Amino acid sequence: MRYSPETDPVITLTSGPVDAYPGVLRALGRTVLYDYDPAFQLQYERVIDKLQTVMRLSNRPVILHGEPVLGLEAAAASLIASGDTVLNLASGVYGKGFGYWAARYTPNLLEIEVPYNQAIDPRAVADRLKSNPEISVVSVCHHDTPSGTINPIDEIGAIVAAHGAYLIVDAVSSFGGMKTHPEDCKADIYVTGPNKCLGAPPALTMLGVSDRAWDKMKANPAAPRASMLSILDWENAWSRQEPFPFTPSVAEVNGLDAALDLYLAEGPEAVWARHALTAAATRAGVLAMGLGLWAADVSIASPTTTAVRTPDGIDEAALRAAARERYGVVFSSGRGETLGKLTRIGHMGPTAQPIYAIAALTALGGALQSLGHPAPVGKAIDAALAVIDAAAG
Ligand SMILES: *Cc1c(COP(=O)(O)O)cnc(C)c1O
Repeated sequence: MRYSPETDPVITLTSGPVDAYPGVLRALGRTVLYDYDPAFQLQYERVIDKLQTVMRLSNRPVILHGEPVLGLEAAAASLIASGDTVLNLASGVYGKGFGYWAARYTPNLLEIEVPYNQAIDPRAVADRLKSNPEISVVSVCHHDTPSGTINPIDEIGAIVAAHGAYLIVDAVSSFGGMKTHPEDCKADIYVTGPNKCLGAPPALTMLGVSDRAWDKMKANPAAPRASMLSILDWENAWSRQEPFPFTPSVAEVNGLDAALDLYLAEGPEAVWARHALTAAATRAGVLAMGLGLWAADVSIASPTTTAVRTPDGIDEAALRAAARERYGVVFSSGRGETLGKLTRIGHMGPTAQPIYAIAALTALGGALQSLGHPAPVGKAIDAALAVIDAAAG
């Protein structure tokens, strides 16, 4: 075994958390200022402004100081009141999971669930809204990461907005890696985080909150206040004049600041393009190796994660262990229902570079061969290179 479990891997190609950009790591090492130091209060205001630009919001976003599950749970607790009827859209483990939170806050939970290698059909959403006009909140996961599949949230959002319901979107593993913004999908609460495509560590949630969502939360007597789960507590925390409800994660805010700078300096379109190209090259190689994509159709395969179906007779945990032990390459497993059925190759932030498609295919193919499964790695690399070179012009 070349890379024992006590040794750091060489390349982390997971679906998050991801290896952070070097510039982000340097920023994490900045002096930790006292949160009421005027320099930090000013910086916090500037980070919120920068985040507003990056999220293309017409009002200020909110940062919560815990990894994105905090933001998702806070959105359910704050926006969903006991009189609401929620339509939860589930095409994977995260989408399904949001329904369990929603059910804590209202007894009226409806669901559209599709097999976890498929996407939600916007027409099904339109039909359900027509047959159940009482639906007041719709929730959807954009990129259901344990499946590597994308839901058409802009189309779904337009339908939900026409109906008048509120929309909660989990865009944790898509935002920053493809074109998606809260107002593009008319989200009322749009949840994302630094630890996927923005290439920073896991410890914050960023939320886009519509004006009417603020009003609904304020009118909800059960919405958390004076609580770690509160969104309302943070409404005015962006302002250097206002106190923080509790101590913000100072170092993580520094890391996010650097991640946003990197994203803006490179240019969002360029960032999205290298995510898409890395995924396209990986998919081409996977297919050329005779393997299958988990996604039922390539049109719903994520540009930030490629989920590869586990070949019959292969133990998926052994496959990932072989990739790590032999080559020092770490992949993600499935989760819940997809655990054991697929291996995920992440293309997020710093690893959304086409050359990592080559590394991923080599490690995946070599690991399969070590388990006795034929995997023509050379063909995979040729196919991936063809995609990469075609894009280079
Ligand atoms: C990563 C992720 C989250 C946050 O959950 P983790 O505990 O970091 O896994 C939430 N939603 C989605 C879709 C994610 O990919």
